[in-house]
Amino acid sequence: MGKRKLVVIGNGMAGVRCVEEIIKMDADAFEITIFGKEPYPNYNRIMLSKVLQGSTTMDSITLNDWNWYEENHITFYKNEMVMEINTEEKWVRSPERMVNYDELIIATGSNPFILPLPGIEKEGVTAFRTISDCEKIIDASIHYKKAIVIGGGLLGLEAARGLLDLGMEVTVVHLAETLMDRQLDQKAAKMLQKELERQGMQFLLRKNSAEITGDKRVTGLRFADGDFQEADLIVMAVGVRPNLQVAQNTPIKVNRAIVVDDYMRTNIPNIYAVGECLEHRGMVYGLVAPLYEQGKVLASYLCGQDSKGYQGSVLSTQLKISGIDVFSTGEFLNDEELQSIEFFDGIKNTYKKIVVRDQTIVGAVLFGDIQESRKLTDMIKRKANYSELELSTDSNNQTDSHIATMADNEVVCMCNGVSKGTIVQAICDQSLDNVDDIKACTKASSSCGGCRPTVTSILEYIQQNGMDMETEKETICTCAYVTHEEVIESILQHPGGSREELMMRLGWEDLDGCPTCLPALNYYIGIHGHSTDKKKASTFPSIVSSRMYGGVTNANQLRQIADLVEQNNIPLVKLSEGPTLELYGTENEFSTLPPSYGKMLKTVSTDAGIHFAKDAMMDSIQLGMRLEKSLESLELPSELVLAVSSSPHDEAKVKQKDAGLIGTPGGWEIVVKNDRIFSGLSEEEAENMFEALITLYRQDAFYLETISQWIERTGLIKVREEVFKQKEHHKHVAMKQVTIL
Ligand SMILES: Cc1cc2nc3c(=O)[nH]c(=O)nc-3n(C[C@H](O)[C@H](O)[C@H](O)COP(=O)(O)OP(=O)(O)OC[C@H]3O[C@@H](n4cnc5c(N)ncnc54)[C@H](O)[C@@H]3O)c2cc1C
Repeated sequence: MGKRKLVVIGNGMAGVRCVEEIIKMDADAFEITIFGKEPYPNYNRIMLSKVLQGSTTMDSITLNDWNWYEENHITFYKNEMVMEINTEEKWVRSPERMVNYDELIIATGSNPFILPLPGIEKEGVTAFRTISDCEKIIDASIHYKKAIVIGGGLLGLEAARGLLDLGMEVTVVHLAETLMDRQLDQKAAKMLQKELERQGMQFLLRKNSAEITGDKRVTGLRFADGDFQEADLIVMAVGVRPNLQVAQNTPIKVNRAIVVDDYMRTNIPNIYAVGECLEHRGMVYGLVAPLYEQGKVLASYLCGQDSKGYQGSVLSTQLKISGIDVFSTGEFLNDEELQSIEFFDGIKNTYKKIVVRDQTIVGAVLFGDIQESRKLTDMIKRKANYSELELSTDSNNQTDSHIATMADNEVVCMCNGVSKGTIVQAICDQSLDNVDDIKACTKASSSCGGCRPTVTSILEYIQQNGMDMETEKETICTCAYVTHEEVIESILQHPGGSREELMMRLGWEDLDGCPTCLPALNYYIGIHGHSTDKKKASTFPSIVSSRMYGGVTNANQLRQIADLVEQNNIPLVKLSEGPTLELYGTENEFSTLPPSYGKMLKTVSTDAGIHFAKDAMMDSIQLGMRLEKSLESLELPSELVLAVSSSPHDEAKVKQKDAGLIGTPGGWEIVVKNDRIFSGLSEEEAENMFEALITLYRQDAFYLETISQWIERTGLIKVREEVFKQKEHHKHVAMKQVTIL
């Protein structure tokens, strides 16, 4: 089968990040084409502020250079805008060409919103979104002196700081009474304004722009109240609007933006969206952290990997102006339902406000000292109780203990979703001793750079204290402050209890749970408990599945299937993702297979086997079929795709799967990705050891943990030892079948 054709419209931060994730997951799955309206390779839009401020160069903000496209066999049509999508015939069209797709990702981002003022078309009026806007601004600063920035939000203030650095006199015009009024309360906003005024910025607040004056080039801005401000450059930074042009005149559903579900699917099959152009559960996001999460979810979906889908994001904002630390996340304004804890230090000029609703932390604003930003974001995400807060007035002493107690899964780099655990592991495994190497290895601090101080603190902490960190616990989800281990322990201590009893015991407030915790609890009860509320696994009356073990079938099975189809007038016969033929549309109850809710074995693929495969050394087909039969009805922590190869010739194919066996001159080898678990096994040993490995995986892994993640967490040596023990036990005990709740 040829590769599926994946077309991406938009070469920006979200679309290309999604492609990067796809390549990481399955480099061979797609033939990839990207269309980009801009003439550059993929670059870091966030850093345009830093380019303007002179703290980085245009060259250094490239995220993936021209070689990257070539090395990954991506066809990139730069400077080429897609004008039309045909959803029926599955193609897209630019002025130069038409390209067919099997899967289509729309990642067209946003357009800057331009106020419809008289005079807007004059020379010297620009937005601040692209490299070419940035070049225009830098060029104007060489020839002109006075600039106005319309918009006192994050983008406007960063642009204004850049203009100051370029030697211009800058006035920021803002409609509201305070700066960054969508992110900061009055107190923090006033502190920010004072600091920016000290840096040389001027402000006109509560000013409604009415007209841009001048002949060909701008000379100033007139306001609704009749006032006037001179300027030879006006930068418009009043917000963005999702870029929906490609979805117009198509059946793709659009509300405020392109509407997608939790897997980034639009209402049209095979068409997806990521980035600022989409709307998810009513939200349109304009920061990179959520867009990167979306890209990962979509990549998993397209590569057939498990994910719980995109659940929405808690937003946080950090201003990128050197010398000013401001951070805001979640809710920040006082209202009747909210209480706040505030701390102001007039000497250090720091301010901290933590907002609480019904004892739960829902927002925070930090000015002057933002060390706690990540910790607070994490608390908000998991709806932590305010009693967890330890407000301290001495930030210096706090750094070490904060780093030490950060949870491993706490996200340090919000832009790129890099956790403390990933950074610590990279430092330790690769003996990294500077932040730039950590950035190159993990991507932490490679976008807005706001987390660089935290990354530095983690590095310094490890250099001074080694790896002895007392971490916060990694909870199962945000419904309860409970780890996977605690759930399992509680089930073992109270066997036979129901799910509701378990949830009440462990402090779930809402017994309906969420899509993350419910399947996990069901799985753990199925594996470790003897539940009293087992429901019988029902069969689907309208689907009959006929499994072809090891991907092998024969004339007899095909004849039986053909007879069944004819006799029952079955309207649809279809190969499923695994080697199973599904017959849809019959009312009879033939199925002997368990229904496939829960995570199960998907396929065991085999090569041509001992009789037909070139260089075959072992009977891969027989072993593959036996394994498939013994594992097919087991519920697993995560779906499994296995492969059995008759010779090392096909080793790469086995390693692409979750796990498998390879026939070698010295006997069978069991492999999980690149880890060789056992080698030199006879066929019987290979079968027993593999089954023992899977038994252990089912018992020990956390729900949704893949077999390779589980081995990485547990340690290869320990897994080997435990499999040996398990194999002995396994000889006497048949594999436990789990009833699906
Ligand atoms: C100066 C600046 C500073 C920022 N700072 C931060 C920050 O500190 N933190 C943060 O989280 N976010 C920040 N952002 C926002 C962040 O950059 C965006 O959220 C992010 O870039 C959006 O990614 P995207 O891929 O959805 O859109 P984009 O990056 O805009 O990419 C979309 C691409 O699609 C192209 N395109 C559009 N239509 C078509 C078409 N029909 N055919 C082909 N190509 C098309 C566009 O030209 C564009 O290149 C900042 C933005 C700016 C401008």
